[in-house]
Amino acid sequence: MEKIASIEKRRPKLIGWGFEGDEMTSSEREMVMQRCCDRFGGDYEIRLPPTEDEIELHASRLAVPNTLARFATNADSERLRHTYGMAFPDYVRIFDQDFTPAPDLVAYARSEADIEAVFEWAEGANVAVIPWGGGTSVARGLEPDVGGSFDGTLSLDLTGLNTVMEIDKTSRAARVQGGIRVPAMEAALKPNGLTLRHFPQSFEMASIGGMIATRSGGHFATLYTHIDDFVESLRTITPRGIVESRRLPGSGAGPSPDRMLIGSEGSLGIITEAWLRLQERPTYRSGTAVLFNNLQQAVDAVRVICQAGLYPANVRLLDPAEAKNNSFGDGRQTIVVLAFENADHPVDPWMDRALEIA
Ligand SMILES: Cc1cc2nc3c(=O)[nH]c(=O)nc-3n(C[C@H](O)[C@H](O)[C@H](O)COP(=O)(O)OP(=O)(O)OC[C@H]3O[C@@H](n4cnc5c(N)ncnc54)[C@H](O)[C@@H]3O)c2cc1C
Repeated sequence: MEKIASIEKRRPKLIGWGFEGDEMTSSEREMVMQRCCDRFGGDYEIRLPPTEDEIELHASRLAVPNTLARFATNADSERLRHTYGMAFPDYVRIFDQDFTPAPDLVAYARSEADIEAVFEWAEGANVAVIPWGGGTSVARGLEPDVGGSFDGTLSLDLTGLNTVMEIDKTSRAARVQGGIRVPAMEAALKPNGLTLRHFPQSFEMASIGGMIATRSGGHFATLYTHIDDFVESLRTITPRGIVESRRLPGSGAGPSPDRMLIGSEGSLGIITEAWLRLQERPTYRSGTAVLFNNLQQAVDAVRVICQAGLYPANVRLLDPAEAKNNSFGDGRQTIVVLAFENADHPVDPWMDRALEIA
């Protein structure tokens, strides 16, 4: 029998950040423990996460239906991998080997037809469908905890929808499938000199559809903050049909359907494609960090820089605790990280003015 699994070359780890093979070394574990001791005091012990074989998982309530047999499975290994996101409480339950909300089925969609087949079967079988993008949710959005009114749950993994389908260099836009992870998309855009330049801290694992469904915010995000700024149009499969918005440079005609879907956390349908606004890869860059001995002065500087019409790519304030956690400062200083970037002209005058303000 064919084994149903992700088509990704690298399989995400069962537990923790990253892909299989990316496990922390023992010296990295020691370093993290030492840092916790130094920072917070107290005693710590290193506990390794459970292995797949150690976890006792309850049986799936569902057999794989014939119509989904090509791409769905009820194998424990896949169900374990689709139970939780990456919030701290998720990790606590994983370490406790509590996989109570595990889905009954996992399906790896490769096409919109696969998604439609899942919806068609799930409606008749009274099964809840939970979209799975990059798997980095910190808001329990992936957890198949759907109450008692359903007869089962299916986690619909979208990482097989992973293609950049079209690039419009003139308008600087690309049509991208919802399940593609950010690094794969950026790699496809790079030869064209283009980039989305939207980097939530989770960008290494996050998918485009997941970022749109959660209204992600990025770093380098003072000018363009949320993914909303980059969405030109969306294509979404719902249990009642397809919702597709028109790709326009801008529109003032009535309420925007995209605004309803952006941030909908998969509750209205599955975002299978998006036209995204891109930027030229920056060639001129200027970045620095400014130290403040007074938090309020740093806050004021950030506000005035942002209100000055300078449009920095990044202004980020690290309060003394966060700065120290990141090995900057002595625990009393506030740090403001400042960056300007552009593909057209040098940005030094903007940086000079921002530093004058600071
Ligand atoms: C270490 C870490 C750092 C993070 N940093 C940031 C940050 O800087 N900024 C930020 O905004 N967030 C951050 N997050 C939160 C999370 O990474 C983001 O919300 C991210 O956008 C989720 O993308 P994803 O592809 O992993 O989605 P998933 O976690 O797979 O899914 C998130 C939600 O969207 C739904 N969904 C997924 N794909 C689709 C789709 N194609 N169509 C419809 N619904 C879908 C899911 O059902 C779920 O409800 C961070 C998380 C971690 C673990």
